[in-house]
Amino acid sequence: MHNVVIIGSGCAGLTAAIYTARANLRPVVIDGHEPGGQLTLTTMVENFPGFPQGVLGPDLIESMRKQAERFGAEFRAGAVTAVDLSRSPFNITAAKEVLEARTLIVAAGASARMLGLESEKKLMGHGVSTCATCDGFFFRGKEIAVVGGGDTAMEEATFLTRFASRVHLIHRREEFRASKIMLDRAKANEKIRFVTPAVIEEVLDVSKENVEGIRLRNMNTREVTNLDVEGVFIAIGHEPNTKVFRGQLEMDANGYLITRGGSKTNVEGVFAAGDVQDSRYRQAVTAAGSGCMAAIDAEKFLEAEHHSSVVSKAMKS
Ligand code: NAP
Repeated sequence: MHNVVIIGSGCAGLTAAIYTARANLRPVVIDGHEPGGQLTLTTMVENFPGFPQGVLGPDLIESMRKQAERFGAEFRAGAVTAVDLSRSPFNITAAKEVLEARTLIVAAGASARMLGLESEKKLMGHGVSTCATCDGFFFRGKEIAVVGGGDTAMEEATFLTRFASRVHLIHRREEFRASKIMLDRAKANEKIRFVTPAVIEEVLDVSKENVEGIRLRNMNTREVTNLDVEGVFIAIGHEPNTKVFRGQLEMDANGYLITRGGSKTNVEGVFAAGDVQDSRYRQAVTAAGSGCMAAIDAEKFLEAEHHSSVVSKAMKS
């Protein structure tokens, strides 16, 4: 039986691990299907306090992990396939192992949203990617497309100009959700060509098992054109990883977990932190902050539980 099981090893999960490990609770962290979370898929992070020159996302995560390990956090590989939160201790199934936990911190994050095209799915890893940092290198000297109108799309498009000869930024509207500074940076980059308002109707060519282009529809004129590109980066936001908690933990219409009074969920002893419960701020620093909150809430919960069992034993004797 574990005092604390933490689901997710991104910024939120690792911060919760550092705090609960330093409180001598020997937390067990389940890595999840994207170990290290979204920071491992990014490049330079310029807004995490304490790094005036910026820090690489993967380096920041690696340091947090080492920090958690130093204080006794244990890590388990694999994703969670089932949870039973109907009674205490909770049961968490990951990589065929069932863990029993007095408290659970859900920091499972959010995953890249996809366009939903069959061709996109079939060509994933064959020219379609959701991670510029991971795959940018493969597109040296090539023309590519980035889809999306938010900060991620601007960041990825700008980053990809290091490799690609040209980046076509495809967005379905004329207006952008991206912050002004990121949009201006992308617009000032000569290698980036904005294609708006346009949607990708098909990624070509599934029969050749490689990306050779995209079929685009102009949303104003309805005109359909083909654009030759060798890579397509999908950068259209994220979905919370909460499927496994459906029917057990309260969530909003978009599947984000609902927290109250800090990090508390509707189940006593279950806490949530990071992007899995935050569709608004979604920053590394807010994820870390909420991981700290969940750790302190879990610690207080265990303390109160211990105190009440001591009192009830004393009253019986
Ligand atoms: P986002 O802000 O939700 O933007 C998603 C974009 O994708 C929107 O422009 C949206 O279009 C488009 N989109 C969504 N579904 C689509 C579909 N099915 N087909 C075509 N387009 C679709 O997501 P994000 O860019 O990943 O950013 C998430 C958060 O992280 C934001 O708070 C952002 O500021 C932050 N972030 C910050 C940094 C940084 O500061 N370094 C970097 C990356 C992200 P519509 O606009 O038409 O809805």
